[in-house]
Amino acid sequence: MAPMRTIDEALDRILEGIRPLGSERLPVQTALGRVLAEPFHARFDLPPCANSAMDGYAVRAADLAGASEDAPVRLSVVGTVAAGALGERPLAEGEAYRIFTGAPVPPGADAVVMQERTRAGEGGTVALFSAAAPGENVRPRGDDVRAGTELMAAGTVIGPAEIAALVSHARTQVQVHRRPRVAVFSTGDELVPPDGELSEGRIVDSNGYALAAACEAAGAEATLLGRAKDDPEAIGAMIDAASPFDMLVASGGVSVGDYDHVRPVLEEKGLEGGFWKVAMKPGKPVLFGHLRGRPVFGLPGNPVSALVTFNLFARPVLRRLAGHEDVRPPTLRAILDAPAPAAKGRTHVVWTRLTQGADGGWIATPLARQGSHRIAATLGAHGLIAVAPDTPMAPGDEAAVWVLALPGAS
Ligand code: AMP
Ligand code: MG
Repeated sequence: MAPMRTIDEALDRILEGIRPLGSERLPVQTALGRVLAEPFHARFDLPPCANSAMDGYAVRAADLAGASEDAPVRLSVVGTVAAGALGERPLAEGEAYRIFTGAPVPPGADAVVMQERTRAGEGGTVALFSAAAPGENVRPRGDDVRAGTELMAAGTVIGPAEIAALVSHARTQVQVHRRPRVAVFSTGDELVPPDGELSEGRIVDSNGYALAAACEAAGAEATLLGRAKDDPEAIGAMIDAASPFDMLVASGGVSVGDYDHVRPVLEEKGLEGGFWKVAMKPGKPVLFGHLRGRPVFGLPGNPVSALVTFNLFARPVLRRLAGHEDVRPPTLRAILDAPAPAAKGRTHVVWTRLTQGADGGWIATPLARQGSHRIAATLGAHGLIAVAPDTPMAPGDEAAVWVLALPGAS
């Protein structure tokens, strides 16, 4: 029998065989959360011409030498430039343009004096109460970015600022990795849909819904194929129905019991890669492999085990498929304010709440009464703590927490 792998070993092995999916061209405004499949270079200088950083007056700095509160310099105002307009003619000695933020600085002008340091006077003149250095309050052409600069590397995740950068260079389409399309199904004779009849011994198939939601939360597109009975033919039909998808996530029936048919059926259909037990609690039986080049997960049926193994193993795969470079759950360090029990010979993965202390440090509160079937004991969790085998943790200990969702961030 193969030795049990640690969580990290299992994830390393799983990720070895995963490459990003191909790419597609999308309208920029629909690409939020996607990953760039090619670098993006600035198409032109931004700003495209020198413009004003203030509302005020565009001047020749040399005209204002020695200007002060007591000895203002008076210039004649030859026009107004607002954002989107152009100065009609170059500025000559002794002249100023009224100018507004974002408006192009007219030729001849080399500084802008803010409105608060001026007073409009008689007969189209303005009094300026301070001198200006050349370039003051002027944003030079290309101050944001120069044409040709690589603004974003392939692998950049598109957020609102990236969308601003793309469209400000007049890009309307962008080449991004595809979103993984995932087929999800559940196995078990006891399962009924949420609106099904709950006769004795039956339970609602919660995993299908939870795992589909977890796929969506990871940025993938999930399709719930439904439930298969603990019967090789029914399971085989589901696996066949999943073949057009980029990945398959099944739950239940992956142990070595008489009713656990998922593994033999997948193997019969050509599953490559390993079945292994990971040295963790919950979630010891985890099935992973490739079927016709696509990743396949068989997660344990217990609802908490299914979500733990999804977050630790399947979510990184989905992120890699979607082109992300950072695929593992991020960690932060937190001080425990309640005990976190250990498991014998295996890493105990414990759900925890996170709060921020008065000093800004994170406090982890491991949730009580955890168990692989106790979904109620996971509610409100923000992360997971890996408690080392046989080494319980006590209040005051520092733990690395895998972050699932920070309070306030989702
Ligand atoms: P299994 O992994 O098939 O041995 O299932 C382990 C436990 O998880 C059993 O108590 C099942 O009833 C339960 N279980 C399996 N699949 C689901 C599911 N889709 N939704 C809720 N509970 C499930
Ligand atoms: Mg079962």
